[in-house]
Parts: sequence; C-alpha cells; structure tokens
Amino acid sequence: MQFFWVNQSLFKQEQKLGVIRADTRDSEHHARRRIFDVRKGDVIFSFSKSGFQAVLIAEENADASNKNCTVACTYNTFESCIDLDSTIKLVQKHLQGLYSPIDSASRRNQGYLYPLNEKAAIILLELCGLEIEYQETETANPKRKEILVSRIIRNTKVSQGVKRTYKNTCQVCGVNLTTSNGPYSEGAHIIPLGKPYNGPDVESNILCLCPNHHVLLDGFAFSIAENGKLIGIEGNLQISKDHKLSKKSLAWHKMMYNKALKSDS
Ligand SMILES: [Zn+2]
Repeated sequence: MQFFWVNQSLFKQEQKLGVIRADTRDSEHHARRRIFDVRKGDVIFSFSKSGFQAVLIAEENADASNKNCTVACTYNTFESCIDLDSTIKLVQKHLQGLYSPIDSASRRNQGYLYPLNEKAAIILLELCGLEIEYQETETANPKRKEILVSRIIRNTKVSQGVKRTYKNTCQVCGVNLTTSNGPYSEGAHIIPLGKPYNGPDVESNILCLCPNHHVLLDGFAFSIAENGKLIGIEGNLQISKDHKLSKKSLAWHKMMYNKALKSDS
C-alpha cells in the first residue's frame, strides 16, 4: 500500500466525480506518470488552497489505457478542513527530498501525487482522527501478501472516551483484544457519522465494540432494544452506568434492522 499527497486545485469537481485526475495531455508530466502508479487501496491525502480537505482511498488500479487519467476514489472528508500551517509543522521533517509537496517557505508546491512515507502518513491520519484497518489477502504467490485498505475508522476524541470507559472491551461479546500496539477496540457509531445519515459524534451514539461486532452493527445484522437486550442475537449489551445511550439512536438502528430483515425475506 502506498501513501500520496495531492495538491488538488479542483477539489470540489473531483470530489463530485469521485476521482483524482491528472489533468494534462503531456505524457512526460509528473502527474501523469505518477497517477499510473496508483493501486487499489492506496491512501491519498488531499490538500487544496484552504488546507487539508480529505483522505481518499483508491478504489481501483490506475489503468494506463484510460485517456482521461482518472482513478476512482472514496472521499473521506472532515467537518471542517484542517489548516495547512498546523499540518506542515507536524509532518515537515518527514517530507524530505526533491519532490516535497511543500516548498522551503512552507507553501504548497504545484504538483500532484507526491509519494509520502509511512511516518508522515500516520501523523496525517491521526491529525484527522482516522485509523486504517489493513486487510491482507493472499496472492497467487504464497510468499507475497497484498495489503488492501478495507475501511477507514473514525477515531474521534469522543469515541476514545467511550473506549476508555469500557477498557477496550466489546460491549456485545466481552472480548478484549491485545495487539503489539496495545489493546484494540473500535468506537462504533449507532447512527453512522457522515453522509447519508449524519449521526452525531457524541458518547450516547457510540459503542465500544470488537471489529466483528462493529461490522455486524453497521450491517444491521443485529440491533439493540432500549433496555440493552440484543435483538437478532443472544444476550445483553454491557452498559456502564456512566454511559447513557441515545433512545433516538437506538430507535433509528432498530428501524434500519427491521427494514433489512424485511428486504431479506
Ligand atoms: Zn464483540
């Protein structure tokens, strides 16, 4: 998986189309050469004049026969853009080299798809409250594993608070995962953040779950009654006395769960 920085002057237009685009016919232009290096699952940090705008995930490998030089991407935008000055201060020392996206006076250089190292990428992800879950797939050559980004998890300050409350223990199954980076759990929004549902980023709309139960909650494979009883699977949700759940969020989730049930049958 690769990381890139784009200075995207046509941010709004490209976001609308869900692509990045090397807008040039000059085959020797660096933007055109680099866009064909993009592979499915690559992470692209998008900067425009006003600052850091979005984290993009490439949905396809770039296709050299595509005359328009576009690559389809998922846009993960923030509520408000992050200013360039604070971004540069944090990552500048990791942006060495000839093709820095930022010039010596800390201004954006004209250019597209600067390769970023992992250190800079992790700082940028943290800055916008995102974590990436890596998904490994075996390739035909058993020694090689290809890493795809499967989804972006919003790790907001609020969800970090909920995870602390439950000490990273899944409220559904009680599992407590430990990785080499320490304990791992996910803050799961009952009504998802962002479009189209625009759920609130507040503790009453967030659960502390293991990755499996996060996926099942998001996919309406189970739901939760107001009293904490699980619907569709056995058991009760563990709820701390300091953690009040939003009745509105639970009602919304149950409505979506019932809808999903109906469309199944
Ligand atoms: Zn679980």
